[in-house]
Amino acid sequence: MMRSFTAGLSLCLASVAALFLPGCANVPAFMPEKQLAAQAATEFDQMKQELKVSDNPEYVNMVKRVGNRIAPIAGQDMETTEWEFVVFDDPAVNAFAMPGGKVAVFTGLLELVDGNEDELAAVMGHEIAHVALKHSNKQMSSEMLRQGGGAALAILLSRQEKSAVDPKLVQQAYDLGTQVGLMLPYSREHELQADELGLYYAAKAGYDPEAAVDLWQKMAEAGGEQPPEFLSTHPSHGTRIERLQELVPVVKKRIQAEEDEAYLRNQGLLDEA
Ligand SMILES: [Zn+2]
Repeated sequence: MMRSFTAGLSLCLASVAALFLPGCANVPAFMPEKQLAAQAATEFDQMKQELKVSDNPEYVNMVKRVGNRIAPIAGQDMETTEWEFVVFDDPAVNAFAMPGGKVAVFTGLLELVDGNEDELAAVMGHEIAHVALKHSNKQMSSEMLRQGGGAALAILLSRQEKSAVDPKLVQQAYDLGTQVGLMLPYSREHELQADELGLYYAAKAGYDPEAAVDLWQKMAEAGGEQPPEFLSTHPSHGTRIERLQELVPVVKKRIQAEEDEAYLRNQGLLDEA
């Protein structure tokens, strides 16, 4: 019974894979967010033991302040998120975010930012956007499809109503997900999406979106042996900075339009949506 079912899954997997591959850019995020959040919490706790958590009050307060201003805006795109903002005492110019709202900023990046909260908001907006857009989930879903074995399909099918998929098989699939891990590199497409939404988040939280351009320029210059997460994937720095320069006025216009609409609504000049 199990064998034929698994064989059927493998067969079906080929057609599922054909839908999403090659490129995998459009693989839906089919891993349950709740499970990823739990997995992220465990991995994040582990990192806090292995890496040194900074107790520099200036850095810690700044990261929490910026995070707490951006998170409620991003929160509108997410169901349940328990945000946590941590500073790692590490000279790398880096930051990352994990499902469930775990956000880390390294002291190397904070030194580069040098007290400029608008610049920090650009990075944190970008990282928080990765969470809101479920990019880890999409990368993991894509990796599970690549690895095959029916795991991806078992999860997809188990989410259907009246699913007949053996819960054990689904559990095995989730276990495979745990092995795949959460820290897969993002695709170029994901980076562009996070740049765009991150810029909007930061600006909507009241930060100057122009700071993103300055910061990305600084980071491109800082470079170093190991490029930071946000520089490690294509496009090239120049292309990315150019695109951000184009996006800044677009984002400003969008926010102005939203503010105008809110004003008119407050004045009773617009019908409630
Ligand atoms: Zn990124």
